[in-house]
Amino acid sequence: MRSIRAALPAALTTAFLIASFVGAVPAASAAAPPTAVVAEPTPPVATRFATPLATKTYTVSSFYGARCMPLPGASTFHEGLDMAAPTGAPIAAVAAGIVVATVDGTSARAGYVKLRHSIDGVTYTSIYYHIWKSTTRVKVGQLVAAGQRISEVGSSGVSSGSHLHLEIWKGTPGSATSLDPAPFFTSRGVDLLSGARSVTATRPPATCTYYTTTGVNFRTGPSTSAGIIRVLPIGTATVQVPGRSTNGYLPVTVAGRPGWISSAYVSPTRPAVPRPAPVATPVPAAKPAPAKPAPAKPAPAKPAPAAVKPKPAAKPAAPATYRTAAALNFRRTPSMSGAKILVIPKGSTVGSIRASKGVWRQITYKGKTGWVHSAYLAKR
Ligand SMILES: [Zn+2]
Repeated sequence: MRSIRAALPAALTTAFLIASFVGAVPAASAAAPPTAVVAEPTPPVATRFATPLATKTYTVSSFYGARCMPLPGASTFHEGLDMAAPTGAPIAAVAAGIVVATVDGTSARAGYVKLRHSIDGVTYTSIYYHIWKSTTRVKVGQLVAAGQRISEVGSSGVSSGSHLHLEIWKGTPGSATSLDPAPFFTSRGVDLLSGARSVTATRPPATCTYYTTTGVNFRTGPSTSAGIIRVLPIGTATVQVPGRSTNGYLPVTVAGRPGWISSAYVSPTRPAVPRPAPVATPVPAAKPAPAKPAPAKPAPAKPAPAAVKPKPAAKPAAPATYRTAAALNFRRTPSMSGAKILVIPKGSTVGSIRASKGVWRQITYKGKTGWVHSAYLAKR
């Protein structure tokens, strides 16, 4: 980056790689956002500040800072403020600035618009995440005023429902640090918390509990080359101090023993552990798991004692029916990157669970069959 800059003509010394400063929204495994080199003009001086969503139309659903992972794949340090609002609600620029990036969202990647500002002689960046189409209102290089509409609320990327994830970064790209948007704006005359219709966000507890979603290596350090203490079976409870992670690994304790696990293989909800079906022949003992996080192997089934006939499966009682405890993405496949069919509103009845896969539950809603995350299903 530095050497590229040095090689550029003087007129382009302010050039930067847009993709080099992509906030800290949970990394999706999809392709990286498109990268473009643009000459960045000096942002206009901002003196007035505006709320990004209209007052009393949004709910503050997650604070900035350390938190328990709300969904598998989400971060444990929340770099922004979550403001839940209906899909399509207008998003306004928080201050005068210049558009420096527009990235469209997909179900796997949070789309965003990024603005650069000059406030009291310091460079700041505001980023508006989870939008779908990023160029409905603005394009890169455009100057915007405080309060000017720049986009619409969406639910792209790792997201349990439509919301704006607002990030504020202080400093120049590459050496910027994220700020808590709430006090940043309060000191500038915009109170994002009292401007909300409601605040459902909670301060993090002392510890978070996560469950392994598959067989996972429990390691002595935050890397694949660290020693393996043991392999944790699916559904193992692990305890973490919120906010701490290194290299995609979480420092956790398992039954009091400290170690590290990859954050990719844990969930805040206990997965349904599949019970091995009765089998006639014993399964050979499972070999020690390989170094990479391995899919859970079913425990070797014990052969039934010869004298005992397998009981016919009891007719199950009427299955439990469920409702959504939050607006939920309804997906075609049991994965964060599964194509989204629609968003099921909070409080909808979704009937009984047809199938389970890890933390995902298959349900039928409005005649369509698809998958939802189990974290926000509640029994009726
Ligand atoms: Zn967020």
